[in-house]
Amino acid sequence: MARWPYSTGTWKRLRRLKLMSNPICGCGRMADTVDHVKPISDGGHPFPALDGLTSYCASCHSKKTARIDKRGAAATSKVHGGCTRDGTPTDPNHWWLK
Ligand SMILES: [Zn+2]
Repeated sequence: MARWPYSTGTWKRLRRLKLMSNPICGCGRMADTVDHVKPISDGGHPFPALDGLTSYCASCHSKKTARIDKRGAAATSKVHGGCTRDGTPTDPNHWWLK
């Protein structure tokens, strides 16, 4: 998480402000991570208003991140796995080709 914008002073100020106004995670634990509601990779503003951010505890944040990673992996396997349009497996080591 040391990438832009998380390494900037602007982000650190915004994060502190968010944790001050929403110090509790949705699960009831103290929040120590601030996350974008709309990811920057999805066109979200890097420094949105406080309601564009969510406070998470470390546990909920890692759960949320893992879920996104899994969805990303699933989407990737859909693109790269399976068959070409004529039904030939794209994997050259597929049993069907032997
Ligand atoms: Zn939590």
